[in-house]
Amino acid sequence: MEKIKVGISACLLGQPVRFNGSHKNSPFCHDVLSQWFDFVPLCPEVEIGMGIPREPIRLVNENNQIRVKNVTDQSRDYTDQLHQLADEKAPELADLCGYIFMQKSPSCGVFRVKVYNTNGMPEVNPAMGAFAYQLKQHLPLLPMEEAGRLNDIRLRENFIIRVFAHQDWRKNVLAEPEPKNLVAFHTRYKFLLQAHSEVDYRQLGQLVADAGVKPIDEILSNYFSLFTACLTNVAKINNHVNVLLHILGFLKTKVTSEVKQSILNLITRYKEQKVHLIVPITMLKHYVELHQIEYLLNQKYLSPYPYELGLRNSL
Ligand code: SF4
Repeated sequence: MEKIKVGISACLLGQPVRFNGSHKNSPFCHDVLSQWFDFVPLCPEVEIGMGIPREPIRLVNENNQIRVKNVTDQSRDYTDQLHQLADEKAPELADLCGYIFMQKSPSCGVFRVKVYNTNGMPEVNPAMGAFAYQLKQHLPLLPMEEAGRLNDIRLRENFIIRVFAHQDWRKNVLAEPEPKNLVAFHTRYKFLLQAHSEVDYRQLGQLVADAGVKPIDEILSNYFSLFTACLTNVAKINNHVNVLLHILGFLKTKVTSEVKQSILNLITRYKEQKVHLIVPITMLKHYVELHQIEYLLNQKYLSPYPYELGLRNSL
């Protein structure tokens, strides 16, 4: 299987690039995700020539501007260099399908990086690391996540879904930007989108209906922005239940009433959080495959990423 190109903070792959010469190896990234992801490691601070070891830096709010400064000598400011690095790297990183950053880092952090005032006191509002922030300006739809947040099973599954969907989009729509490819893409994501947001799913359907009427570039750009926003919402249990019931509806003329009832029981147990999502999905998939219901066989909801990742075993 072709591996998916994903950017990563180099320290998460065990590279000893941190300010003190240590690393922050993530076994999940290094040992598990690397089976499917072709990681592109980068340490922004090393890239701009700060060296190893180096003095620590942090985010400082200076006149309402977030700057990256040496902790003990605030005259040493690395913000512009980190932004410039992101500007330079963005074209070569434009074919990534995701990026995993190290949390809390003034260069790499994506969510809630601590900010200090010029007197060295912590501020209330956090910010993004300078490199991650600037890269996001260039690649706003690239799925970005922090390694620490991947310990949360729902955020982990959400990120992995978005990475695989991003690759699917590139390969099967962007490579041949035709209305029929957009329609096929939207069709196979129907249930997955509905699990994340019914409202967004309907709006996306309206955009697809305009394909062939409006310029395709405009449609694709609007579609993928909303698609990305939709999948970024973590799917709620009730939405999953609605989708599972909808899929069961396709089986009603194919299975006995006893089978239907036993699947319904599993969906109810999932709703009550007594079994994991994988349980009703496995049962439904079994009957979908047994009866070769093509429309459902193509649905990404049933297989959004390789089964071996086992992410729905804990949802
Ligand atoms: S968090 Fe980013 S800047 Fe810091 S060591 Fe890791 S890769 Fe380098």
